[in-house]
Amino acid sequence: MLPVACGGCGVDDEPWCSACDALLGPPWRCESRAGRLDLMGAPGGLPVWTVADCVGPVRAAVLAWKDHGRRDLTRPFAAALVAAGEELADVLGPGEVLVVPAPSTPASRRRRGGNLVDDLAAALAAGLRSGGCPARSSPVLARRGGDQVGLGTRARWLNLTGHVRVRPRDRARLAGRCVVVVDDVLTTGATVVACRTVLEAAGAFVAAGVTLASTPPPGARPASGPSDPCGSAARVVEETLRGLA
Ligand SMILES: [Zn+2]
Repeated sequence: MLPVACGGCGVDDEPWCSACDALLGPPWRCESRAGRLDLMGAPGGLPVWTVADCVGPVRAAVLAWKDHGRRDLTRPFAAALVAAGEELADVLGPGEVLVVPAPSTPASRRRRGGNLVDDLAAALAAGLRSGGCPARSSPVLARRGGDQVGLGTRARWLNLTGHVRVRPRDRARLAGRCVVVVDDVLTTGATVVACRTVLEAAGAFVAAGVTLASTPPPGARPASGPSDPCGSAARVVEETLRGLA
C-alpha cells in the first residue's frame, strides 16, 4: 500500500482529515474581494459564493488537486459543493437553473485528464436539486489560449478576452436561461466575468457565481474559519509543492 497523506495539511494515513474538512464551510459571499467583478462588464455586481478561504491547507489541497494528481480530493470538494447547493437552493430557485463550469484550456484538460471544475458544477447542481431547485450542469463553454498561471490581473484579462466562447451546439438553448457559473478559485474575477459576458451575449441571465475557494486580497486577513488549524504541517506541504512546481 502507498502511504497516504492529507491533501491539505499532510497528516499521515488519511487522504483528507477532519480538521481540513472543517475549513470547507457553509457558503459565504466573496465578490467584494474580486476587483474585476466591479470593473468589467458586471453592472450591478454579481453575487459570488464560496465555501473556503484559499489559504493554508485549503490552498495546498487545491494545488495538489489541480497540479499534483490528487484527484481523490474531488470527493471532499464535491461534497462541499453539494452542501452549498442545498443551502443556496432557496436563493437561486425556485426556477430552473443551468450550472455552467468555467472552461479550462485544452492543455490543462490534457494535463489533468479533464476539466476538474465539471465535477464541482455537477456537485453544485446535485445540491440545488436536493434543496428543491431544479438544476443541472452542462459544460456549454469552451476555451482556447494559454493558462492563467503566473499572470497578473491585467494579463489574465487580456489572456481571457476572446478565448472563452459558447460551444456552437449549445448556443440556441441558452436564450432566457438562468445560469450559475462555477469555478475552482475566485481570484481577480476575470474568469467569471469572461464567462458571464459570453453567456449573456447568447441570451442567458447569469444570476451568480459559486467557487470552491476565494483568494484573499494581498495583506487581508482570512475572512472565515480558524486561520490555520493544521499549523506548520501545512506550510511544509506548501513548501514541498512549491519545490515540485
Ligand atoms: Zn488535513
